[in-house]
Amino acid sequence: MFNLSRYFSTVSFILIVLAAGVLGPFYRQLSVQQITELAESRNVAMAQVFENSLRSPLDNLMTASVGRDADFLRQSGEAVQLKENVVALMRNTAVIRVKIYNRLGITVFSSDPSQIGESKLDNAGFRSAMNGAVASDLTHRNSIDTFEGIRADVDVLASYIPVMAKDRSIEGVFELYQDVTPFMVQLQRSLWWVTAGVFIVFALLYLMQYVVVRRAQRILEDQEGRIVAARDTLEIQVEARTEELKRTNTHLQGEIAERRQAESKLNYLAYHDPLTGLANRRCFIERLESSLQEAGQHDQRLAVLFIDLDQFKQVNDSLGHGVGDELLISVGARLSEHVRLIDMLSRLGGDEFICLMEAVRTEEEVAILAREILGAFDTPFLLGEHELFLSASIGISLFPSDGSSVLDLMRNADTAMYRAKDVGRGQFHFYTPEMTRDAKDRIRMENLLRRALDNGEFSVHLQPQVDTQNEKLVGAEALVRWNSPELGLVMPSRFIPLAEDSGIIIPLGNWVLWETCRQVMQWRQSGFDLPQVSVNLSVKQLERPEFFDALSGILEETGMDAASLKLELTESVVMGVGDACTVLQRLRGLGISLALDDFGTGYSSLSYLKMLPVQQLKIDRSFVMGIGTNSGDEAIIRTVMELAKSLNFEVVAEGVETAEQAAFLAQLGCQQLQGFLHGRAVAPAEFRARWSALP
Ligand code: C2E
Ligand code: CA
Ligand code: CA
Repeated sequence: MFNLSRYFSTVSFILIVLAAGVLGPFYRQLSVQQITELAESRNVAMAQVFENSLRSPLDNLMTASVGRDADFLRQSGEAVQLKENVVALMRNTAVIRVKIYNRLGITVFSSDPSQIGESKLDNAGFRSAMNGAVASDLTHRNSIDTFEGIRADVDVLASYIPVMAKDRSIEGVFELYQDVTPFMVQLQRSLWWVTAGVFIVFALLYLMQYVVVRRAQRILEDQEGRIVAARDTLEIQVEARTEELKRTNTHLQGEIAERRQAESKLNYLAYHDPLTGLANRRCFIERLESSLQEAGQHDQRLAVLFIDLDQFKQVNDSLGHGVGDELLISVGARLSEHVRLIDMLSRLGGDEFICLMEAVRTEEEVAILAREILGAFDTPFLLGEHELFLSASIGISLFPSDGSSVLDLMRNADTAMYRAKDVGRGQFHFYTPEMTRDAKDRIRMENLLRRALDNGEFSVHLQPQVDTQNEKLVGAEALVRWNSPELGLVMPSRFIPLAEDSGIIIPLGNWVLWETCRQVMQWRQSGFDLPQVSVNLSVKQLERPEFFDALSGILEETGMDAASLKLELTESVVMGVGDACTVLQRLRGLGISLALDDFGTGYSSLSYLKMLPVQQLKIDRSFVMGIGTNSGDEAIIRTVMELAKSLNFEVVAEGVETAEQAAFLAQLGCQQLQGFLHGRAVAPAEFRARWSALP
């Protein structure tokens, strides 16, 4: 392994030595230069002093020297006097030797008389001074002759300084020797200190880093050790496992594989819907549970989309369970294509699907998915020879705003789905707290509804049906009203769906039948004859086998003749009952007339219609409303009329409010009219008062 600390110590040591090796000489060089400059300037100053105070003897000597020999220069009076003066000036200064050269380079004066007369013409220092520039040279002398005698071990700075004549011309050169030993000693000492200081600082730095590096190295070594140990253990385990596996005989292996397969199959069945292969309710709930935990911890949002097919029941009832199952499989497959891979789609049961969307950022994202899912129903489903147009409604709840538990989120998505269905099929709706309030209102209303029958809060109103040609009363439709002490007058569109959901429709429907028959019979006995009366039937009533007994019982009890009774069934009622044909046949067998209500809004096929033992079609109010304004509605009415003619049905138009509508319908051969034009549904007394007065 790479030895970090060894590498570090080597590199840092080299760097420190290099730094010290460069810094020391550099510092020395700098200091020597400074000392030289300082000493030189002192020499120059000293030369100035000499020049000033020795002006005249010097001048004399310079002039006298020309052409004379050395002995003369040594012994002349000028020379002797000059020497006395120079020595006097040198005393107590650092200057230890003085030489003076004339213009020709001849030594005219020296504190060492033996040198007088020597030529310095070739000396570089002398030449430079003759050119007007001071030149200096720092040297170490083991011994030097001074005016005070011999000195040993001296550092000397020798400077050549030009001597100026009165006319500023250079008439000679001074050579001044200055003793710089004290400076050099000082320099040596400081150099030592600086070197020591640098060394100590570097050493400290090195030590500090060394500690850090050493520690890092130890951690690395430690981890390496652990990795090696883990690898070794793993190797041992792998070996042991391999051995173990080898030892296990093949028979056992086969058994294990079989058991695994069975287990995974069981597991698959436990978590999947066998029909569609999608995840099932249990799987969805478990996944939602864990997703909720995750989302809670990471502050994320998620969405639950409750998907319910709009017309599945009709398909199932009219085309059979086989087709229904096939349809569910197709729907499951198509939905899977439209949700993203990360979203979880599952089938809750029946025609209910549910989708979980995770890591939701915006509501718009959820809306996009919902639109995508609804778009899956844009193209019809092809099942054998059937082409089915289907739609779905979606309710959406969001975590955390709409609930934090699986139960709340699923329930609220379901509530929102019902709202989506109310608004109109093939839509999606986000959950809002008002929906729960509405749901609570529904529960309250349902509770009130349960007591209403016992409390006698219901009554039956009657709406006239007249002959199109002569406007004579031919019958009436019985429409139930609820006069609730708590809620006031409640219209059937508000409470009939509730009554159907809660099962109250059974006793309520029976009561309406009974009350209507009773009323008609009572009128008859008192001289007012209503030719026929229509009563609306709910699919829930018709589903019950006991309904026939109840109906027969009512006819018997009230004495009503079956021929005067007409039952109104919507297309969806007919489609909703298992074997509708047989059931209706039984009703016909009792002698009761049948009318197909809200005709045109459902989608019963012509061939199916032909088989039904129905005598009357009631054109839905929504088409009548379009007469004079909507040519599409008018076309539908025309088609219905033609159809009715060819199948021999009598036609009643509902919701006729204007004379124009009545005229249009009359012209097409519609036999009966019902609507506000001829009267609203009113209480029996008012009805009798209005219609018995006529001839
Ligand atoms: P429906 O069977 O289609 O009844 C006709 C509805 O249209 C009635 O509303 C009636 O008042 C209204 N209507 C009649 N002529 C006109 C018109 O010219 N203009 C307008 N705008 N409306 C008109 P209602 O009484 O509120 O009944 C609503 C629905 O409740 C009925 O629709 C029927 O499906 C259901 N219903 C009423 N009574 C019963 C009942 O005793 N049993 C069952 N199962 N359902 C009933
Ligand atoms: Ca009706
Ligand atoms: Ca109707």
